[in-house]
Amino acid sequence: MSASDPVLSAPTPGDSASVAVIGAGPAGLFAALRLAEAGRRVRVFDRMAAPARKFLMAGASGLNLTNAEPLDRFLDRYGPARAVLEPALRAFPPEALRRWAEALGQPCFTGSSGRVFPEAMKASPLLRAWLRRLTALGVRFSPRHDWLGWAGDALRFATPEGEVTCRPDATLLALGGASWSRLGSDGQWARFFSPGDLTGFRPSNCGFLPDWSEAESLRREGDILKTVTLRFDGATTQGDLTFTRHGVEGAPLYALSPRIRDAIARDGAAILRLDLRPGLDEAAIAARLGRVRPRESLANRLRKGAALTPPARAVLLAGVAPDGPLDVADPASLARRIKSAALRLVAPEPLDRAISTAGGLRFDALDEDFMLRDRPGVFAAGEMLDWEAPTGGYLLQACFSTGHAAAAAISAWLDRAS
Ligand SMILES: Cc1cc2nc3c(=O)[nH]c(=O)nc-3n(C[C@H](O)[C@H](O)[C@H](O)COP(=O)(O)OP(=O)(O)OC[C@H]3O[C@@H](n4cnc5c(N)ncnc54)[C@H](O)[C@@H]3O)c2cc1C
Repeated sequence: MSASDPVLSAPTPGDSASVAVIGAGPAGLFAALRLAEAGRRVRVFDRMAAPARKFLMAGASGLNLTNAEPLDRFLDRYGPARAVLEPALRAFPPEALRRWAEALGQPCFTGSSGRVFPEAMKASPLLRAWLRRLTALGVRFSPRHDWLGWAGDALRFATPEGEVTCRPDATLLALGGASWSRLGSDGQWARFFSPGDLTGFRPSNCGFLPDWSEAESLRREGDILKTVTLRFDGATTQGDLTFTRHGVEGAPLYALSPRIRDAIARDGAAILRLDLRPGLDEAAIAARLGRVRPRESLANRLRKGAALTPPARAVLLAGVAPDGPLDVADPASLARRIKSAALRLVAPEPLDRAISTAGGLRFDALDEDFMLRDRPGVFAAGEMLDWEAPTGGYLLQACFSTGHAAAAAISAWLDRAS
């Protein structure tokens, strides 16, 4: 870092150019690896004491590294960002990521819906092997370096020893999104860019708050709706929903979250439709309910006739305005509601709780090589860019692929500049 720093000091004849990578998440560490393999002198900076905190957290519930579905379908998962991400995803596709993990001693398997996981399930064995490789290639790591933007063309960092600056030959920013700030990614980097270069951060793959009172939320906390079908705006998903103190969460809801989030922003609320008995059609449920003695309590009739659990009964009976009153004596009316119960959602959960972040650095602030148009030699990759995708391995894959593409572009740019 100082003038005597062997990595970032001015290159001497015969030395390769120096690259600063800021952000030691998967995007930054993968770019660092590619750059070091290309013979560049690389130093990775991060504000945290240890690298890849969010990547390690991603492994806590099974590291879904990528997805083995056909590439064209895979690319569609990025919605409007497909066009800008496609070259990077094709240059380093899911199969290449899997092979790379396997070459680092982490065999992978393909699970349901094409999801690819390392057999170890956790991120730590892969990260350890990766860091060993970086060290062997001479990549250096500067922890506790909080990037503070630029002073002219120098990078500024706050460190425990005070502020330091450096002038690498090229820089990669891989600063992540704006959720799970305790793991290092808080989106504060946005203040070093002009507003026109940014799209506002929004939660993605997030839970939502139903329009329930606080008392109701506390009563529901811990409830799980098992294997329900969710419908919103023409899209359908299936799986488990969990009610927490903060709202309702779960993979099938995350998959709908961009649509629901945008509908709430537009209309103030969104009605999510739940099929509480996806295995039975409406007529079959009505017939079963009709066979239960009418003298039984409503809870018993719903349990015996439709096998509804207490959390499912609570959602069914909460009812919301557009559906009007429920005729609980009428099996047909109950069956109709069971197949299309309404949950009114009024806000996404806070951004910091989201699995990922929409918004960030706009692609039109970058050229096709991920280089900032107004800062030659400064590149960006990973979740800090303005794209979003569902869970299922698409998030990490785009971080690796953009890290790979930015590293190749940095090397080419340095070659041209030398
Ligand atoms: C609970 C959870 C589970 C997940 N599971 C999966 C999964 O199974 N599959 C999947 O595909 N995705 C998953 N994700 C998402 C995935 O982890 C992220 O998309 C990915 O880590 C983003 O990589 P990145 O390198 O762009 O940024 P990050 O991993 O966020 O890394 C950015 C780095 O930059 C550093 N930084 C930020 N600002 C500064 C600054 N000013 N100065 C210095 N350093 C700074 C941070 O400390 C951090 O180390 C999960 C996320 C969460 C929260």
